[in-house]
Amino acid sequence: MLFEKAQQLLESHFGYSSFRNGQELAIQSVLAGENTICVMPTGGGKSICYQIPAIVLPGTTIVISPLISLMKDQVDALVQVGIPATFINSSLNYNEANQRIWEAKQGMYKLLYIAPERLDSREFIEDLKQMDIPLVAVDEAHCISQWGHDFRPSYRHIQQMVRSLPQKPNVIALTATATPRVREDICETLNIEEENSIITGFERENLTFSVIKGQDRLHFVRDYLKKNEKEAGIIYAATRKNVDQLYERLKKENINVARYHAGMGDAERISEQDRFLKDEASVMVATSAFGMGIDKSNIRYVLHFQLPKNMESYYQEAGRAGRDGLESECILLYSSQDVQVQRFLIDQSSDRSRIHAELEKLQQMVDYCHTENCLQEFILKYFGETETETCGRCGNCLDSRSSNDVTKEAQMVMSCIIRMGQRFGKTLTAQVLTGSKNKKVTEMGFDKLTTYGIMKEKGSKEVSDFIEFLISQELIAIEQGQFPTIFVSPKGKDVLLGKEQVHRRETVKVREISKDDPLFETLREVRRAIAETEKVPPFVIFSDAALKDMCARLPRTN
Ligand code: ADP
Ligand code: MG
Ligand code: ZN
Repeated sequence: MLFEKAQQLLESHFGYSSFRNGQELAIQSVLAGENTICVMPTGGGKSICYQIPAIVLPGTTIVISPLISLMKDQVDALVQVGIPATFINSSLNYNEANQRIWEAKQGMYKLLYIAPERLDSREFIEDLKQMDIPLVAVDEAHCISQWGHDFRPSYRHIQQMVRSLPQKPNVIALTATATPRVREDICETLNIEEENSIITGFERENLTFSVIKGQDRLHFVRDYLKKNEKEAGIIYAATRKNVDQLYERLKKENINVARYHAGMGDAERISEQDRFLKDEASVMVATSAFGMGIDKSNIRYVLHFQLPKNMESYYQEAGRAGRDGLESECILLYSSQDVQVQRFLIDQSSDRSRIHAELEKLQQMVDYCHTENCLQEFILKYFGETETETCGRCGNCLDSRSSNDVTKEAQMVMSCIIRMGQRFGKTLTAQVLTGSKNKKVTEMGFDKLTTYGIMKEKGSKEVSDFIEFLISQELIAIEQGQFPTIFVSPKGKDVLLGKEQVHRRETVKVREISKDDPLFETLREVRRAIAETEKVPPFVIFSDAALKDMCARLPRTN
């Protein structure tokens, strides 16, 4: 009967005629008094899973959300349909916050949104104890886990807070991006039974994924935009500078483009976003700062101009295409140089203890770019779905290039790795295979190995790419660390012993990056940054040789 009320509310307050996949189960579970976890893709409709119970249950539901910029919008939307709600975060001054806390203690709100940092304050916890709290909703719950992509230490205080409240409220955790490991972590931390997990399919049947390699990205983007002139789309670039450059380029081509990144002023950012939302600009060029909470349904494509830092970010960003259910494309433009840039960014931004986990995630992102299997299936498996099928529509499923037997080449690479003692990186291995006279190669005596120079007709870049391919096929494993090292996996040993074969599609010759490529500047900056820090930070993984290799690829500036 509580649930009947929930159904009425869906219509009367939210204006929807039926629940979406998973919403019903989640609400039932919460109303049955169970701690619940709800894993649904972005845009799947997670908010209602706690908003409706909040209205039905007596008292004030606490919603913990790290997205301060979205709190106001969410609260405004609730208030507009007559649901008393408010938020407390750092955008309020002391008096405003106190006023709202006082009102919440009087029971004036059904929902109170708070930023996780509030929980660091003992005083605030004391305030909470004086409220009547039946439910705590933990939005973006992956922030609880070290294994998530956005760990927030304050999230670790949630369970303590919940336990200290006199009513012992129930908890509902919500996230779009939980891998099995993160999910376990959330359930353990928040004391959620596994059977109270509501996980809806991550498959988006109207999205077509592809990875484009070895093409001039700028050319690709120009051509693509010409072909899709009338459609709305987002292009994600890695850095603010990349966004600005791409934006200027496209504007010169008379493309109706908007831009968005955190380095712009508030007013400009909002007006650019508005132009895109109102279809005044068809293309949005942005960093990953753009898109959280954006509800634009007719986005026909999402292009990634550079490699994202992990699969979670990628799927979240790409998933902004096709919310209306119509066919849409998600295209990732890959160049192996991006990996260096991402490594550098990880090194700059992460706290030391997370670097290892971040590098592992980056590697999986690189594997996605190198796999020849179904891309949709790769994504679903990554997010823990076990019963998956090939999609038949992604770039790999539709790839008609013929496959070559590359077993012999794979054996060459792997026997070289073994001869080198399985404790060196990709670059050095490629150098040994191509017969480089690099100092490190000779110093280590690797020029005496029988595998020295056995692939000398190929470039070291080509061999490096081939090693990445073998990694994506799980024949070679990688141990992340200050200097990532590669070794042969059990599956790889079977290939070495001739028990298994390896096939690879004919590869496109990889183009070197041109001065036109916005990445050009980034690489220069990376070099500059490294040159400036006399003591190279311990986790920057560029070897001198790798850097030289990168520099050699850059065309000379006069
Ligand atoms: P999430 O938090 O999972 O990313 P939201 O809760 O923000 O998603 O919801 C995404 C969009 O779906 C919103 O515009 C919301 O109003 C809409 N929505 C949610 N539930 C329903 C429903 N049952 N029917 C139709 N639209 C819905
Ligand atoms: Mg949400
Ligand atoms: Zn596929």
